[in-house]
Amino acid sequence: MSKNIIIAIDGFSSTGKSTIAKLIAKKYNYIYVDTGAMYRAVTLFAKNNQLVGLDFLKDEELIDSLKDITLTFKFNKDLGFAEMFLNGVNVEKEIRSIEVSQLVSKVAAISEVRKKLVKEQQLMGKEGGVVMDGRDIGTVVFPEAELKLFMTASADKRATRRYKELIERGDDVNFEEILFNVQERDRIDSTRKDSPLVKAEEAIEFDNSDMSIEEQFKSICTLVDNKL
Ligand code: C5P
Repeated sequence: MSKNIIIAIDGFSSTGKSTIAKLIAKKYNYIYVDTGAMYRAVTLFAKNNQLVGLDFLKDEELIDSLKDITLTFKFNKDLGFAEMFLNGVNVEKEIRSIEVSQLVSKVAAISEVRKKLVKEQQLMGKEGGVVMDGRDIGTVVFPEAELKLFMTASADKRATRRYKELIERGDDVNFEEILFNVQERDRIDSTRKDSPLVKAEEAIEFDNSDMSIEEQFKSICTLVDNKL
């Protein structure tokens, strides 16, 4: 009989974690949780309330406002994945903007923000049968996860992927700005005090710079099948 395991996918920005996580969740009929969307939604709230900008962060006021933030994932049948709602409003498109990407790592470094979101993530995954992607899933959120993956790729490849995504949805961005953002987020995420981005000891590393989605999907399915 198959069991419901927890699959933790961590790694650097724009390594295609969510693409692969969605495919795995679909194949095994698991819930997919995009924890980056949660940090992005808190950042959007902070940005809209002038609590964060490129040169300021009102962390104490943001911590006070955390009680006013409700995050919900609602499954969209047409898209085949859950969209992020911030206080009842669908913010899926807004949270992916370059403006939010430029601020999110600052907000994600605040311990109180992490505490709130980690608690919610642990609740979502407590029954197992979940694929969760982020930066600290295998180290902090679910150190007991049965399968841990760690995704990397060259900064150039990652920025190229992100750039294409943003251009395809009609955003006015340039490649240099995206490359800088990807590298800057990795720097902040890897050096913050609370839950820095590090590979869990037992995580299996995938450098997917030159791997197709199909290749990654196949290898990961073999790993999942071995655990089930
Ligand atoms: O995964 P995504 O690139 O959307 O994540 C956006 C940002 O949210 C990351 O750069 C990081 O600062 C933060 N994050 C985090 N912990 C997670 C997921 C995301 O700190 N588990």
